[in-house]
Amino acid sequence: MRVLIVEDETNLGQALEQGLNAEGFETTLVTDGQRGFDEGVTGDYDAIVLDILLPKMNGFKVCGELRSRGVTTPILMLTAKDGELDEAEALDTGADDFLRKPFNYVVLVARLNALLRRGTLHRGFGAQGFIVDAASHRVQRDGVSVELTTRETALIECLLANVGEVVSKVDLLHAVWGEHFDGDPNIVEVYVGYLRKKLDLPFDKHSIQTVRGVGYRLDLDAD
Ligand code: CA
Repeated sequence: MRVLIVEDETNLGQALEQGLNAEGFETTLVTDGQRGFDEGVTGDYDAIVLDILLPKMNGFKVCGELRSRGVTTPILMLTAKDGELDEAEALDTGADDFLRKPFNYVVLVARLNALLRRGTLHRGFGAQGFIVDAASHRVQRDGVSVELTTRETALIECLLANVGEVVSKVDLLHAVWGEHFDGDPNIVEVYVGYLRKKLDLPFDKHSIQTVRGVGYRLDLDAD
């Protein structure tokens, strides 16, 4: 997995590289927005970690320009402490997620992995004829197509990326609602319920199974 890091603070950039290399990622570090754009637009990366305040071109602009060029690489934006406006703008310009500075590596790696799983799906990943189209928020199987909301799409993507395996409620919560979600974690259950209502009948399956006390598992062979 190749990760592009766009960060002008040299110490932080190098620490990011070391941390991600230790986790098995290949990294490229650039220190200004223009070079971030030039590298990002090649499409050679599986994910981009993007700072906001950068020389030459700020992170919002880099992100917006990449998206306007059709680059769909998942982008994780690094925002400042208390940067709630930044976070709204980051998502607005097409970032997939954001992480507040200072952050810890465990969280960074978890969020990157979640993005990478989703990124695989954006490129048309499916399983056993079951396809999630993240752009149009639709799930298709055997010629049947069902429309979902953004959250429902993200949730089914996560389950599909781990098809046959149990995904914990916490992992789903972090991947779909973000690390900073401070509402009721039972929202995961509520949305799994929505998904079941939308998917079970048209597909004639009970595909999302509850594994009591652990989480949920998508089983495409269940009926
Ligand atoms: Ca900076």
